[in-house]
Amino acid sequence: MLAGMSASGWLAFDVSAAEVKDEIVVIYPKPDQRISAVDSTFILGHVPPKRGDWSYRLQINEQAVDVHPDGGFIAFLPIQPGAFKFQLDAFLEEKDRDYQSRIKSPFSPRLPPYSVRLSRELTVFVPEPLLTVDADTLVIAGDYKPPRGSLELRAGDRLAVAFRGTPNCRAWFSIEGVADSVPMSETPPRLQPYWGEAVFGAGAVPDSLKIRGIYTGFYDVSDTARIDTAQILYHLAPPSRETVLAEWLMHVSALKLHRYLLWMQAGAVEKPSSCRVSFNNPSYPFTVRFADSVQIVRHGPRKGYLSIFQPEGVEALAVSAEGDWYRLQLSQTQFGWVARRSVKALARGILPPHSYLTSIRTHAAADHVRVEFPLAGKHPFRVIEDNRRTIRVQLFGVTTDTDWIRYDFPDSLIDIATWSQPEPGLYELKIQLTSDIWGYDSYYAGNTLVFQLNRTPADVTRIRGKTIVIDPGHSRDPGAIGPTGYTEAQANLELALALKKELRRRGAKVIMTRHDDRHVDLYDRPAIAKVNEADLFVSIHNNALPDGVNPFANNGSSTYYYHLHSMDLARSIQGELLKATGLNDYGLFHGNFAVNRPTQYPAVLVECAFMILPEQEALLQTGKFRKKVAKGIAKGIEHFLKEYNHGK
Ligand SMILES: [Zn+2]
Repeated sequence: MLAGMSASGWLAFDVSAAEVKDEIVVIYPKPDQRISAVDSTFILGHVPPKRGDWSYRLQINEQAVDVHPDGGFIAFLPIQPGAFKFQLDAFLEEKDRDYQSRIKSPFSPRLPPYSVRLSRELTVFVPEPLLTVDADTLVIAGDYKPPRGSLELRAGDRLAVAFRGTPNCRAWFSIEGVADSVPMSETPPRLQPYWGEAVFGAGAVPDSLKIRGIYTGFYDVSDTARIDTAQILYHLAPPSRETVLAEWLMHVSALKLHRYLLWMQAGAVEKPSSCRVSFNNPSYPFTVRFADSVQIVRHGPRKGYLSIFQPEGVEALAVSAEGDWYRLQLSQTQFGWVARRSVKALARGILPPHSYLTSIRTHAAADHVRVEFPLAGKHPFRVIEDNRRTIRVQLFGVTTDTDWIRYDFPDSLIDIATWSQPEPGLYELKIQLTSDIWGYDSYYAGNTLVFQLNRTPADVTRIRGKTIVIDPGHSRDPGAIGPTGYTEAQANLELALALKKELRRRGAKVIMTRHDDRHVDLYDRPAIAKVNEADLFVSIHNNALPDGVNPFANNGSSTYYYHLHSMDLARSIQGELLKATGLNDYGLFHGNFAVNRPTQYPAVLVECAFMILPEQEALLQTGKFRKKVAKGIAKGIEHFLKEYNHGK
């Protein structure tokens, strides 16, 4: 299961696979769970397993559902918004005959091992999809995609607002004391994409979810606009008399015309936004200092990563805010977002460091080459892998004065290094290597930024002697849970132990992040790899799906990388894993996980099979399948090493 999906309720179960109860057990969803699906979702669990000639026939909401001999089942069923009930009924059958008909036979029936009939009800909550507001009433339903809390904006910032209301009307907004009657217009019907289906399914978005009546507008904050805190007031009025007449002539709907005429008498409606705004708050801008040791700078509040692993002490200028997030100005045109709680605001009048970079110097060591940037303070930075052999280091708030780049001459890892100043406040060093990027590290030594390029391990084409860290995902959290209650944490450990055996047999030095079901914190796993100076890192998982995605159409093996330098390893493992297991190809993914974000070595996460499918859950419990998976991954690593640098 993917780490990002843990909120969906998988963690709340703890079912022992060994226990056989004479009942229907539903593993997922749990009672009263909120299902974030659109029109269908899956339900999984088990009935007592087949015993002799006896087995259960199952139906859910009167639809027949296949039952695996071990009792596991999964179904993908239509759902309705609101409180939705699953009714599960299981009927015991002997061979192909119904127990009831058997009991009526003149022969004395054998006593059944289980109850003749089992039933269970499960109610979940399915949120109402966002719908078009009923056209019969003039109403503002509320904000559409509001910001995450209050907005603190400065001159030059743009405030974008949107609300949902009755379609085909006139709309505007006002902010007391600053802006009056700012026009808004109805947008073309908007789709409501659901990420689960987009990423993990076929990517379809049902047409019925297009909604009308979304009005948008914007306001560019001027120098003179100054408010401490205010609400945005939305206004909605019936269409103009001309529009009504034109429409009436086209559609000839007397009823509609009558309605419009009534609205016109009633006049406009208004409603305040849920969030508050402030313009040109005199405390902005100010400098913040990063307080976390692994600060992430993002492209938006809770949005994608711009830069990772920013050390404690780095400083940048906060220029505006949205809810719990500060917007930082990194260079003339580049901005990034950080969580308020992860930084410390400095006293007024303090600016972030500004450095002129005069010289860069490289230092060769046995297992790495360091590139050193002496600066006047700790600046935000970003590392970008352009391709297998080109990497760029960007420094924010730095201006070039670079007259010198001193190479450690005898060393050949760095082929060319060139500096540039793409814009004020952004310095860039582009480094071209003579071999594919293996891994790197970046840190501050005092005010010197050190970018360390790790060398390829010795005798790279062979697996023998390589330090490979295997990470069995989860524990004590169970991860995904299969229909009969087999946990992902257990499945991952069993697979990892099989992989350890395979890799040791091939001469690799194997380090496990856990050997048993003890708890290991997610962030301790990459740390274990770092202290053991891992050459490679493989995290073992087994998959589930987010609500609403069809498990029969979407399943199989998949492999995930984060940095470009891990992609070849991911591709190689994915190829060999498919050959070894014969499961469906669920795909090669760029995926953002804590365990594959480290930069020091190639790191991948493998989702070997789908826990939630009864057949794959059963396979995962066999030594034969585990060995196949282990051999596949081991061969994938071997293939990657052999092909590294195109085999040169
Ligand atoms: Zn997992």
